Amino acid sequence: VAHVVIVGGSDAGTEAALRARELDPSAEITMFVADEFVNYSVCGLPFLASGEVADWRDLAHRDLREITGRGIEVRLGHRVHAVAIDQQHVETAGPTASAKVAFDRLILATGATAVRPAVPGIELPGVFALHSMGDGIALRRWLDERSPRRVLVVGTGYIGVEIADALVRRGIEVTLVGRAPTILSSIDPDLGDLVRAELERGGVRCLTTAALRRIEPGSDGLRAAVGDGHLDVDGVVVGAGVVPDVDLARDAGIEIGATGAIQVSRQMVTSAPAVLAAGDCAETWHAMLGRPSWLPLGTTSHKQGRVAGENAVGGEATFGGSIGTQVVKVFNVAAARTGLADDDARAAGFEPIAATTVTPDHKPYYPGSSELTIRVTADRESGRLLGMQIVGHWQAEVAKRIDVAATAIQTGLSVADLLRLDLSYTPPVSAPWDPIQQAARSWLGTAG
Ligand SMILES: Cc1cc2nc3c(=O)[nH]c(=O)nc-3n(C[C@H](O)[C@H](O)[C@H](O)COP(=O)(O)OP(=O)(O)OC[C@H]3O[C@@H](n4cnc5c(N)ncnc54)[C@H](O)[C@@H]3O)c2cc1C
Repeated sequence: VAHVVIVGGSDAGTEAALRARELDPSAEITMFVADEFVNYSVCGLPFLASGEVADWRDLAHRDLREITGRGIEVRLGHRVHAVAIDQQHVETAGPTASAKVAFDRLILATGATAVRPAVPGIELPGVFALHSMGDGIALRRWLDERSPRRVLVVGTGYIGVEIADALVRRGIEVTLVGRAPTILSSIDPDLGDLVRAELERGGVRCLTTAALRRIEPGSDGLRAAVGDGHLDVDGVVVGAGVVPDVDLARDAGIEIGATGAIQVSRQMVTSAPAVLAAGDCAETWHAMLGRPSWLPLGTTSHKQGRVAGENAVGGEATFGGSIGTQVVKVFNVAAARTGLADDDARAAGFEPIAATTVTPDHKPYYPGSSELTIRVTADRESGRLLGMQIVGHWQAEVAKRIDVAATAIQTGLSVADLLRLDLSYTPPVSAPWDPIQQAARSWLGTAG
C-alpha cells in the first residue's frame, strides 16, 4: 500500500500508524491531527486537574519526535473537513493552507465529542468540559489561577466521579449532580451505593435523579439551577458522557451503525472498502453479545487501532471484541466490572443468577485487610460465568481480580471452573481461596 492517511492522532490513530509502520517499512503514512496534541493520555486528565500529575506534558504516551522518527508524517493543527471516497482523497485545512491529499487507505480515528447538556448558560465562562487535552489544560489553568472554592460537577459516570475526586484533592467543595438514580450506572445500584458512600466520606455532596436546568452569572461566580434548587458556585465541570464523532464519515456517505458510531467489520473496515475506522468513532464488536455495541474506552481504542493499522497495509487482523471490562478509582475505592450485568444477560437470552459476597481481600490477621464486595453473574443452566463486579479498596487488587474474571469469561469458563484456577496466595495479598473463588463458591451455593 503506497499511502495510508490517518485522521486523528490520539489512542487509535497513533496505534494504527505505529502498527502500519511496523509491518510496512515503505508505506507513506500521514496523520492529520485537528489539535496540537499527538498521542497524549487523555485518561490522565483527572490527575492533571488534581495536581497529582504536575504538568500536561507528563501525559505524553510518546513525544512527537518518537513518532516522526519512525517515518510517520504528523500534521498537527490540520483538520480534515471532507473525504472524497471515489476520488480517494481527503481535504484538509491547516493553519496556512488547504490541500487535497490522496490516499490508498484511509483510517478514521476521530474519537468522540463530549456531550454538553442543552441548558441555557452552558457556554458561559467558568463552565468546562474534560474531554480533550485542550479541555484539560484549560481546566488546570483555571484551577491554578482562580483557586475556586465551590464547583459543581455534572455527570455521575466514571469521568464525573473522577473529576469530583480530583477537585476535592485541591480543597474544593464539590457538588456532584446526575440525572441517573445511582452513581456509576455501569455497575449495579447497590455497588454504586458503595461508591457514593466513598464520595460522601470524601466530602462530595451527591445529588442523583437531579438535572442541571440552567446556569446564570451570579453575584460572585455562577448560579446553577439543579433539580428544584439553586447552587452558587465558582465554576461547573461537565462530564456528562460522549457521542461518537462521525460527521466526517457520514458526510462522505459511510454507513453509520444503529449505535450511532461508524459501522465497521471486525477487520475495522467501514462500508467503503478503502476506509477503516477505529477507536471511539467506531462501533465495538461485543464478544459476548455477538453484535456491534459502542464502548468508548482507551483499551478498546488501542486494540482497534492496531487492527486497523495492520489491515491498512494488507494484513488480515481481526478485533477480538470487548466484553465491557472497566475500572475506576474514587478516593480509596476502586469499582470494576466485566461481562454482562443481569439485565444485559437476560436480554441476550441467558437466565442469569447473581450472588454477592463480601469477603476480606487478604487474611485479616495480616495488617491492612479490607472488604471486597464481589457480585458474580452466571447462567443458571450452564453455570457459564457471564459477569463480575467488584468494589473495594483500590490497593486490594480489585482491577487484577476483575481481569481474572474477564479472562475467564473470554475463554468461556463456568463458575465451577473458577474454583479450579491455580491462583496465587500469600496472607498479605489473598487467601488460599482467592476472594473471587470464594464468590464463585457462594454463587454455586445460591444456584444450588
Ligand atoms: C477524562 C477521561 C478519562 C478517561 N479514562 C479512561 C480510563 O481510565 N480507561 C479507559 O480505558 N478509557 C478512558 N477514557 C477514554 C479514552 O480516553 C478514549 O476512549 C480514547 O482516548 C479514545 O481514543 P480515540 O483515538 O478514539 O479518540 P480521541 O482521544 O477522542 O481523539 C480523537 C483524535 O482525532 C482528532 N480529530 C478529530 N476530528 C478530526 C478531524 N476532522 N481532522 C483531524 N483530526 C481530527 C483529534 O484532534 C484527536 O487527535 C477516558 C477519557 C476521558 C476524557
